[in-house]
Amino acid sequence: LRADAVWQAGAVTRSDARVVALAGTRNLVDAAGQHALCPTRAAAPQLFDAARELVFLGLLDGAPCYAALHDAEPATTAGGFVELRSVLATLDGDDLSLLIMARALAHWHDTHRHCGACGAPTTSFRAGHARTCTACSREAFPRLDPAVIVLVADESRCLLGRNPQWPAGRFSTLAGFVEPGETLEDAVAREVREESGIRIAMPAYVGSQPWPFPASLMLGFEARPLTDAIEVDGEELAEARWFTRADITAGLADGSLSLSPRRSIAFRLLERWFDRGGTPLRNLSVT
Ligand SMILES: [Zn+2]
Repeated sequence: LRADAVWQAGAVTRSDARVVALAGTRNLVDAAGQHALCPTRAAAPQLFDAARELVFLGLLDGAPCYAALHDAEPATTAGGFVELRSVLATLDGDDLSLLIMARALAHWHDTHRHCGACGAPTTSFRAGHARTCTACSREAFPRLDPAVIVLVADESRCLLGRNPQWPAGRFSTLAGFVEPGETLEDAVAREVREESGIRIAMPAYVGSQPWPFPASLMLGFEARPLTDAIEVDGEELAEARWFTRADITAGLADGSLSLSPRRSIAFRLLERWFDRGGTPLRNLSVT
């Protein structure tokens, strides 16, 4: 449907067309931060008509659905525009997927208004899923920055680190961006070595999470340590420690340890390892 210009021309005018509005990269959600607001064109025509760009997202309950990109906040009758990160813990999961897609595309359009080769303005095509240069015809498509995130663990303990910007007691899995020329496995091994001094055996892929802040795809791994002595770099990590399941249980109980939000891949990597000990991490975690 993205490439069907005739269908698109009709769909965007439908009174039941739905709109996912953005002000910059801020998304429109209800006052409680629990649901996306995606009104129809009939209910909120201004969200369509005042948009700088419309990006076709797909069909939502059978109706065409568009991300409407606005530079400033358009008038709305309900809810408000918020940074998606601020409602990650409260937002409904299906709504979150929709808003992540819209936010990622909004950021891409915002930062590709000019050609990367010749600097001339670009225009949107393929219903907002590509841009082309008005001077040299170079085409650009939405990009993702792959990042790896890894739980280093053996049977009895796992390695967690604290970002220098985090408060004391907040620990999570190690992570970093994949560099040109690396395999994902190379990137995992390099990041762990750089940040903690630990060498690892071949990492195994576990799962992924879109992370549109602004354009990442987090690829999650688990890896066994080959060495023991931790040496933090002091830049990416302020500290790193080995934690047993008992350490985590005690830290959560007395409040000296806090973890990443339950919905994050960091939490799920840790949970997958922790639960092999027989007690679900979710029964202990307060976040
Ligand atoms: Zn160009």
